[in-house]
Amino acid sequence: MVNFSKKCRTRLKKKSVIIVLSVIALLLVILAFALESKSSKKHVEAAAGASEEETQEQPEENASAEETTEAETESETNKEGSSLAEVTTETEKENETKLEAVSGKKKVYLTFDDGPSANTSKILDILDEYGVKATFFTICNTRPRDIESMNRIIESGNTIAIHSVSHEYSQIYASLDSFKEDVLGMQQYIYDHTGYETWFYRFPGGSSNKKAKCDIEECKNFLKEEGFTYFDWNVDSGDAKYNNVPKEEIVENVLSGVGDGGEYVVLMHDAAAKSTTVEALPGIIEGLKKRGYEILPITKDTRPVHH
Ligand SMILES: [Zn+2]
Repeated sequence: MVNFSKKCRTRLKKKSVIIVLSVIALLLVILAFALESKSSKKHVEAAAGASEEETQEQPEENASAEETTEAETESETNKEGSSLAEVTTETEKENETKLEAVSGKKKVYLTFDDGPSANTSKILDILDEYGVKATFFTICNTRPRDIESMNRIIESGNTIAIHSVSHEYSQIYASLDSFKEDVLGMQQYIYDHTGYETWFYRFPGGSSNKKAKCDIEECKNFLKEEGFTYFDWNVDSGDAKYNNVPKEEIVENVLSGVGDGGEYVVLMHDAAAKSTTVEALPGIIEGLKKRGYEILPITKDTRPVHH
């Protein structure tokens, strides 16, 4: 009897300990699940089987709680999704630049604004000498010599492009209409004197200029709708800072502005007053060639640089 009751008590003790432990374990599991379900929708879905009983006990409460959690989680996911997309785009861009550098994609587009002038033919001579091509964003100069240069640009395989009729910021950017007039006027001028229709454009002062009274975004839209492609620059030769910037400085500005790989659009000027730009050109071409750069004219396949 004594032995039996002792055994019995021991068993009962053991049983109750097991029951208590099981209950605690179960509570812990439920608690852990409840915490996890708040933090992640995925976890809710994965643990759906285990939570079924609970859901059945208080269907309405749980359903609404779940809805809230789901909505919250969804909006969180969306936020994360968009920031993830941003990160991906950034990474893609970085990778693209790295790839270009690694794959040896080294391209420089030399561009000359504000000509033609007496300097244009000298620049064309130098380009010929080195067997490279460039791009000329022209203004409305009317001397026979300038018209001749415009034709020579095209015939020699360089690219002629539109800069401006007047090059007067107050006039060009007075309104969207005056902007259109300036762009189309210069396109027409080039066509009338060369028979060549060009669709490349550069904003006087760049697309980031702060002098425009009209809305630059509207100007950009106009260009896009009409089929023009505009080019800013990512390397500035610095030859517009003042007249006759020492040629060494111009060479240095360009060579230090061009990185170890990738594509560069270099801003230079072939206006009459920029004679040191002409003097700097051989040093620039030699320096770029030494570093393995291709010097190319802008074509429809050129990736535009925008400010
Ligand atoms: Zn200009």
